[in-house]
Amino acid sequence: MSKNKIRVYQLAKKLGLKSPKMVSILEELGIKDKGNLSMLDSETANLVEEYVKDMRKTQEENEKKSQRIQGNISIEEFAKRFNVSERAVRETIMKLGLPYKPNRKLSKVEVHYLAAEMGLDVPEFKNEEFIKRFVPRAPVVTVMGHVDHGKTTLLDTIRRTSVAEREKGRITQAIGASIVEYNGKKIIFIDTPGHEAFTEMRLRGSIVTDIVILVVAADEGVKEQTIESIDHARAANVPIIVAINKIDRPNADPERVKQQLADRGLLPEEWGGSTIYVPVSAKTGQGVEDLLEMINLQAELLELKTDPKTTCSGTVIESKMDKNIGPLATVIVQTGTLRAGDYIRAGDVVGKVRFLTDASGKRVKEAPAVSAVEVAGLPDVPKAGEIFYAFKNASEAKEEMKRIEEEKRLQKMKERSGPKTIEDLFREMQEKEMKKLLLILKTGTQGSLEAVKHAIKEIKSPIPVEIIHEGIGGIVKSDILLADASGAIILGFGVRPTTEAKKEAKARGVTIKTYDIIFELTDALEALLKGMVVAEKKEIVVGRALVKKVFKVSGVGTVAGCLVTEGKIVRGYKAKVLRNNVVVYSTEIASLKRFKQDVKEVLKGYECGVGLKNFNDIKVNDEIEVTTTEEQQA
Ligand code: GDP
Repeated sequence: MSKNKIRVYQLAKKLGLKSPKMVSILEELGIKDKGNLSMLDSETANLVEEYVKDMRKTQEENEKKSQRIQGNISIEEFAKRFNVSERAVRETIMKLGLPYKPNRKLSKVEVHYLAAEMGLDVPEFKNEEFIKRFVPRAPVVTVMGHVDHGKTTLLDTIRRTSVAEREKGRITQAIGASIVEYNGKKIIFIDTPGHEAFTEMRLRGSIVTDIVILVVAADEGVKEQTIESIDHARAANVPIIVAINKIDRPNADPERVKQQLADRGLLPEEWGGSTIYVPVSAKTGQGVEDLLEMINLQAELLELKTDPKTTCSGTVIESKMDKNIGPLATVIVQTGTLRAGDYIRAGDVVGKVRFLTDASGKRVKEAPAVSAVEVAGLPDVPKAGEIFYAFKNASEAKEEMKRIEEEKRLQKMKERSGPKTIEDLFREMQEKEMKKLLLILKTGTQGSLEAVKHAIKEIKSPIPVEIIHEGIGGIVKSDILLADASGAIILGFGVRPTTEAKKEAKARGVTIKTYDIIFELTDALEALLKGMVVAEKKEIVVGRALVKKVFKVSGVGTVAGCLVTEGKIVRGYKAKVLRNNVVVYSTEIASLKRFKQDVKEVLKGYECGVGLKNFNDIKVNDEIEVTTTEEQQA
């Protein structure tokens, strides 16, 4: 047996280990006698050998993983390398409080930190020095919900509940955000309730909100904008706390609200889900403290952090032009410290910070991360949602101004390229390596919504389709904002965009496709998913007219007195009657008159009398959309 014994130094040699390493291994294995000349029996020697093998294997794997970590890469490159979405990377950057400058490169240690936080397959992150830079930060909260459900009242009541504000004797709103303190913890509320503002911000690249409070009136329950708010918050990946408001009302029914929202995926905690519900009355203040406590709790779970010593960056949440002071912007400082005298860039606006006003209306010299302040001194009004960051000095700021000019020039060229075709869309999907097609679906009725959804489900395609928002009625501005922010396309069935939505879509390059026949919609979608080149719908819209008056003419039927608002109206062409942007009837222009004269066509800006074939139910404010086929037009 003694033959099989081996001395520690011999084993170390065999395994190619230096003596101190050998000692530490023996220690880790709990082997007591670890002098160089000590004898190990074969069993122990084997154990050590196995242990070293394992250790080396892990090391090798880690090295392989480490090779994936390279510094000086952009967010885009990071996303590609780790096969995650750019949005997710951006969200984590914001959550962790890494300085956020569009187009900046991430250092190696940042890449490692970020990847570790995102749970990606990388070696454990151990850089103590780096970790120490980050401190816990206050959450930024946005209140959303249906109109009149009590968002504004709730924010007012919260401000009044706040110790910090009460001590100062101020409860009025000074800037576009308020800082509230509850149980010694700060909460920053953005005072711009509403999902449009929220998505408008997200569009410009910022995810400044950490938590959404969804206000639902207990007497009215879930409404259209409640659903929109949920979809917008979900698309941004922001956790939702539900405040069931107006519980002081006699017909309040909180259980019904829970049921309605549970059906939409917000399952209450007490039913085994993960959504926090807090019954409140914004009017009496009942439950408001519970709500604040829940916000603190949720914030703790999110482990929000920031680096207060790095470059200053943050987000503009509101802006306005003041008659006396000039442009004013309320910003949330998310990293570093913002100081009066700093040069900053917010969107396309570059300038020097003249003075800062804090949330209680007091002038301050500096604003640390995380806080809300109003910035005065910029040469122009930046848009809500723009990310801002500070420069080291004036010359750096000037350089940046030059670059912005160049960016603007390129942007103009892009805008000239016109609306997207299905082929453009497909190319884009391929370029962005999109793994699924995101849709916003609007239809005329609940029945058609179900039918279209069913038809879409039936389409067999390698690329999955996800409907991120659906609704009944015309395509409106908030649909365009959501589409732009999420990279979705909008499909309308039996509905049309409002004029405002159309303009917005054009400016943002959002694709809207509308159909009135279900198989045309599914054919186009199927083709898009399969990457086939398809002939676009042959029907061309030539004009629109607004019905101003309705006349009954005996023997003829109903005649609509119209104003042509777009293009032209042509006798004999196909016509669709739109009521609130929903198609209610398809027919053709049977008669067209100008001052009792029969005419062939009437151009934009002129009034005319229109008779529709087989349709006498025309109403004031209806719109008539006139279409033709290519052949007819040629
Ligand atoms: P917003 O449109 O969501 O901002 O709603 P508001 O805050 O303006 O509230 C709409 C109306 O509901 C106002 O008349 C409020 O006084 C009332 N309201 C808001 N919260 C409550 C509440 O908790 N109880 C009762 N009874 N009324 C409320």
